[in-house]
Amino acid sequence: MILVASSMIKVRIVFYGTGYNKYNVGVNYQTIHAEHDAINRLKYTKNMKTVNVLVFRISRNKKDILCGKPCENCQKRILKDINQKGYRVHRVYYTISNDEISFIRNSELCY
Ligand SMILES: [Zn+2]
Repeated sequence: MILVASSMIKVRIVFYGTGYNKYNVGVNYQTIHAEHDAINRLKYTKNMKTVNVLVFRISRNKKDILCGKPCENCQKRILKDINQKGYRVHRVYYTISNDEISFIRNSELCY
């Protein structure tokens, strides 16, 4: 996951965090998705920043870009947890395939 601050003139990466999907962790054998993992590593900021989030997913053999659209649970976390760390999410971009990318607007994210 990459958090990118957007402006009319330039795009600046304010945070770059990697997350991995983790399966069967903890006492309840929960699954932690990469987005959740990356948000946990995100540092707090005191000055509210509007950011875009990019979620990308690659195949195990690292040759192909796959659909990285965040699930409902991760969409809720992206909104709530990132906000608690001092950021406001504008759009969540996600990869679809090797040559396609799409996004979800803030207003379309699952609450
Ligand atoms: Zn998820």
